[in-house]
This record gives sequence, structure tokens and C-alpha cells, in this order.
Amino acid sequence: MSERVLICGAGVFGLEASLVLRARGWDVQVIDEGPLPHPLAASTDLSKAVRMDYGDDDRYADAMLECLSRWRGRNATWGDALFHETGVTYLSREPLREGGFEHESFTRLRARGVAAERLDAEPIHRRFSGWREGYHRDGYFNPVGGWVESGRLVEALVAKARHAGVTVTERAAAVSLIERGGRVLGARSADGRSFEASLTVCAMGAWTPSLVPALSESVRATGHPVFLLRPSLDVAQRFAAPAFVTWGSDIARTGWYGFPLHPREGLVKIAHHGAGRVIDPETDARVVTDSQIAAMRAFVRDAMPALADAPLERTRLCTYADTDDGHFVIDRDPTRDGLLVATGDSGHALKFAPMLGEWIADACEGRDNDFTERFRWRTGVASRRGESARSWCEH
Ligand SMILES: Cc1cc2nc3c(=O)[nH]c(=O)nc-3n(C[C@H](O)[C@H](O)[C@H](O)COP(=O)(O)OP(=O)(O)OC[C@H]3O[C@@H](n4cnc5c(N)ncnc54)[C@H](O)[C@@H]3O)c2cc1C
Repeated sequence: MSERVLICGAGVFGLEASLVLRARGWDVQVIDEGPLPHPLAASTDLSKAVRMDYGDDDRYADAMLECLSRWRGRNATWGDALFHETGVTYLSREPLREGGFEHESFTRLRARGVAAERLDAEPIHRRFSGWREGYHRDGYFNPVGGWVESGRLVEALVAKARHAGVTVTERAAAVSLIERGGRVLGARSADGRSFEASLTVCAMGAWTPSLVPALSESVRATGHPVFLLRPSLDVAQRFAAPAFVTWGSDIARTGWYGFPLHPREGLVKIAHHGAGRVIDPETDARVVTDSQIAAMRAFVRDAMPALADAPLERTRLCTYADTDDGHFVIDRDPTRDGLLVATGDSGHALKFAPMLGEWIADACEGRDNDFTERFRWRTGVASRRGESARSWCEH
């Protein structure tokens, strides 16, 4: 008889784990508060960047090499190409310097045999005409990578999980853990249902500390703005791939990054990978402030003048489950048996979706992998560093 695992949270962490655990013979139940995809979930979005550009972090870069081939495999077998390999550009207003995100990423791409092209001001303007001429002086184009339709990915994962025999229950918010004799035996939902299992995985993104308060020392919810602009038809093509691709503009210093025109929605997404603001995901309003909008407009007016007056179709304040070192937390609760947490995305985990399920299933089964140590349950991390593309400026 197969062991039962309960997964609380059907974002990309929970759903990817459900498929791998099911394939390894577990009896899997997933519960989620929302309709799926949950509108406030971090995974539910038009697009997320898929890059192997990780500065001096070889481990994430190597894992992304593997993930990229799996994304392509999914495009080929899933019947729906959710991953758009437009390539990516990481550009700078200054000459690239050793130790900097762009320089270290470029060097490592080349070392891995990736045909990344170094670009200075003229070719940047000639090839990527959405940028103001001369705005960027240096950078590179990496043909590997691009973006994925993350909301549609969640829809596809829910369907695949159900098809594989995973029980996916919507509108079941886990509000407490069932515990006996120092062991976690499942969770109770807000409407009083009990979901029992020999192992419980808490993968509730930024909401995870609400069910596992001991995590709140090392995982906090931070809000980050997303802006969706609708360019007019006469300029839209300047922001469509290949004339415009997934980009970062001195991302580790400014936080600004974005995407090409969405082929179906006709929208250009711009976002900010910065410090964000600490929020309570349960109660705080998810509002992008006027000053955040003003900061975005000032950047766009200077860097992409053709978009300066594009109507702002909508904004979104999306949440990271933020850790100080920017690494995920995929590990068992050190104080009680029967509970594992899978969270700590820090704003950069979705691109690893094709491997997330294995990392979580390995932790469930006590198997080590290349990331076991890095994703350990940890508290009191010395300094706030974050992953290498992360800027700490606030907008
Ligand atoms: C603005 C922004 C931009 C980003 N850009 C990128 C990017 O370009 N590239 C990239 O790789 N990553 C990016 N990320 C990160 C990526 O979105 C996350 O790493 C990933 O989506 C996290 O998935 P998750 O499953 O942990 O959380 P979520 O997707 O948030 O899922 C958590 C789920 O838990 C459920 N839940 C909550 N409370 C309960 C409860 N009590 N009971 C049951 N279920 C519950 C929710 O309904 C939700 O469905 C970005 C994130 C943000 C916020």
C-alpha cells in the first residue's frame, strides 16, 4: 500500500512535487485555498523569465542548463509551447566590470559553450530598437533562455496531476496542522475538513509561515510591483521578439527587467527585482503605489521613449517568499516528524520548475542531491544577499 502525502499549496512548488511523488508511487493529495490557478499566487502570471544567467553562481547556472533542455522537451511533448525561447539580453549603461552580474554571467556562458554575443551601444540599438539609442553602452545577447507563460503552466500542471491520479482539492485552505505525539499527521481546512497523511508538505509560497510559524524567522513575504503597458499598434512591433527579448537593464543595480510584447495579450510587462516591501499576504492590500508607478514611468521615458505614453493596462503587487540568502527552503521541520516545507522562492524559482519536483521529492524521501545543503532549513542567515541578479534598491 503506497504512503500518502498531503501537499498544501498548488503553486509551481506543490504541483511539480505532486507529479514526481506520484510517479515515485506515493498516494498524493494536494489542497489549495483558491480556485486554480489562484489569482494571488506568485506562479499565476502572464510571463516569468527563464534564464541561466546567474552571475557567479555556477550551481544555479548548471541546474538551469538542465532545466532549459527540459523546458524544450515540455514544449515538444505537452502539445503547447508555454516556453518561448526568445533569448535574453542583460545590458548596462556602464562598461561591464569584473565581479558584476553581467560580466560574470557572460564569462560563464562562454565557458559553458553558449554562443552569447557581447554587444556595445551600436549593435544594441541596431538589433533591439525599443531601447533609446545610446542608453546602454555594454552588455550581451544570450540566445538561450526567454520566458514562460506561468499561469498557463499552473493550469497544465493541475490537469497533468489529476490525469496522473493526484487528488487536487480546490477551496480548501489549510489553517492548522494535525499533530499527535510530536508528529504531524496532516492538516485541517478552514471549513473543518481533515486531510490526513503520513507526510505533509507545506508549499504555500509567501503564506507558508502562516502554517509553519517557526519559518517566519527566515522566510518573509515581500511585495514586488509588476506593470503591464499596452503599446499602440504603430510601435508595438518594436517591442515584439526578436526585436525585443527578455531583458535586464543593470538589473543587479536598478532592479529593472522585463519581457517582449506578449503575443496574445499585446502587453509589455515590466517588473522590478528589488528589495520589495514586507507585507502580510493574508491581510495587506496588494497595491502598487503611485510612487512605484512614477518610478517605472521615469525609467521607461528615459530608456524606451516609444513606450513612454503607453497606457498602463494594469499593475500587480506579487509576493516573494523571501529568504536572506535568496536560496529556497526545501527540508523537513527539524523539530517535528511528518512535516516538510518547500518554499523560499525569493522571486526566482519558477524557471527551475522542471527540477523543483525532484528536489522536493528527494527531500521527502531523504535522498541527497546537489542542492540538499543549499536548501536546508536555516535560520539567522548573516547578511541579506539574495541571488546574483537581485538589486536591493527600493521602488
Ligand atoms: C513579481 C514577481 C516576479 C517574478 N518573476 C520571476 C521570473 O521572472 N522568473 C522566475 O523564475 N521566477 C519569478 N518569480 C518567482 C516565482 O513566481 C516563484 O518562485 C514561484 O511562483 C513560487 O511558487 P510557489 O508554489 O512557492 O508559490 P505560489 O505560486 O504563490 O503558490 C502558493 C499556493 O499556496 C496556496 N495557499 C496559500 N495559503 C494556503 C492555505 N492556507 N491552504 C492551502 N493553500 C494555500 C495559494 O493559493 C497558492 O496557490 C517572480 C515572483 C514575483 C512575485
